[in-house]
Amino acid sequence: MEHTPAERITWARAPEENFTGRVWFGPLSHVTEDGLKASGVYFDPAARTDWHSHPDGQVLYVASGAGLVQTEEGETVEISAGDVVYAPPGELHWHGAGPATPMMHLSLTTGGETQWEPRKVSDEEYRRR
Ligand code: MN
Repeated sequence: MEHTPAERITWARAPEENFTGRVWFGPLSHVTEDGLKASGVYFDPAARTDWHSHPDGQVLYVASGAGLVQTEEGETVEISAGDVVYAPPGELHWHGAGPATPMMHLSLTTGGETQWEPRKVSDEEYRRR
């Protein structure tokens, strides 16, 4: 068994071209099953992804804090620690922290790369309920 204390995990800043606000990735480097990608993602308050989809879908497990997920159809869902979210293959969506609350979620995907839309989540979309 190998134990990596939290303070020894290297978090890398997420690229600004696909995110709004400060977001970090914490790769789970020992997860090596073929095709499975598992990452911790930490969002500062009000930080969020751009609009995107996943070819084989995505499971999110909210590990701490509270946040929001939204689909293009306009449904906004408030999420908090312990919640599980499933985005089906190809469904356009974004996820991020709440306006005044950070959030960390685990992201589990298989298959191809995230399909990024050339489109930020506007403040108006972010505030939509
Ligand atoms: Mn996603």
